Amino acid sequence: MKYFTSPYNFIQQDTRKVKIYDTTLRDGEQTPGVKFSREQKVAIARKLDELGVDSIEAGFPVISEYDEAAVKAVASERLDADVICLCRAKQKDIDAALRAGVDGIIVFLAVSDLHLKYKLHTDLATSVAMAGDAIDYAKSHGVFVQLSAEDATRTSIGNLTALFNAAKERGADRLGIADTTGCIRPQGMRYLVEKLRKNFDIELSAHCHDDFGLAVANSLTAYEAGIDALSLSVNGLGERCGNASLEEVVMSLYALYGVDMGYKTSVLKELSEMVSKYSGIPIPINKAIVGPNAFRHESGIHVAAVIKCPFTYESYEPQAVGQERRLTFGRHSGSEGVREKLKSMGMQVTDKELAEVIKALKTMPVDASPIDNGGLLAFVNAVLNRKG
Ligand code: MN
Repeated sequence: MKYFTSPYNFIQQDTRKVKIYDTTLRDGEQTPGVKFSREQKVAIARKLDELGVDSIEAGFPVISEYDEAAVKAVASERLDADVICLCRAKQKDIDAALRAGVDGIIVFLAVSDLHLKYKLHTDLATSVAMAGDAIDYAKSHGVFVQLSAEDATRTSIGNLTALFNAAKERGADRLGIADTTGCIRPQGMRYLVEKLRKNFDIELSAHCHDDFGLAVANSLTAYEAGIDALSLSVNGLGERCGNASLEEVVMSLYALYGVDMGYKTSVLKELSEMVSKYSGIPIPINKAIVGPNAFRHESGIHVAAVIKCPFTYESYEPQAVGQERRLTFGRHSGSEGVREKLKSMGMQVTDKELAEVIKALKTMPVDASPIDNGGLLAFVNAVLNRKG
């Protein structure tokens, strides 16, 4: 993939790969009002597998028979990606996961004072013991186990360390920190990950929420600080304001860090549209990477430059993510861009004709739809009374 980003990105280059486990089918499905059918889950999982993610968190099977069956359907696909699912630190939850035939589980448990007091009504020692027993049970059935500390970003280092030490001793394969309310900022994330990195020689992962619009920044900072795995979701789908967007983190790793993830990023647009359609949540027009405007230009100055060299106003080629460049013509257009575009489509116009076209564009009604790539020739022919 060709890209042209800031050279300052590469002053301290880190090209270490990071594992990605996608949570579109779990946290994404916990978005109020979102419910994927079994067939939709399988279709999304296949597309995620085609992209190349390491693991797919397919759901929370204990919730209902329906959820268990949906996770089982994804697990039965025999994808290259591992299929994992969410469990509380309860044997009942782990049994449901095992019946679904997953490769691994994420056991989540909060040990922040707030959650211990108001949600779990228990103390640290009891919670830690519960986590240990759950890990023992799951490991005795031979599955991968990640122990995730819910609300980790509001948990004291003492409580976190107690939980993680126990988890590691009982054989957990990975320790996860969840920024459950999306309340940490990058500086805090760096401190936390570096601190844990120093104390635990075991895989660490991060799951970030976007309540302050910082989920992607926090995920990338966690990567810089030495995290091994990131939990992401397509379109940033997830509870409340969502999770860190898979497409934004993947493309940042490629083009801002120079990390070759080996992913088939050209499916990102298709994946994003599929999740948008099945979830009923539209893609914002200016959404990074996959939004309709991500490679669309109208301003005269931009269009004229982009025709000569797209890197003037883009950082990478739209085809890299399955997008297309769109030049739009309207009131913001300039003569150089219009002339260049017409020339590229094999139409020559005189200066006088060009002036007529520009005048027609600039006097279009304010509420008229802008003219995209294809419509320009017809518009020009109409203005100049030519036969198209
Ligand atoms: Mn979450």
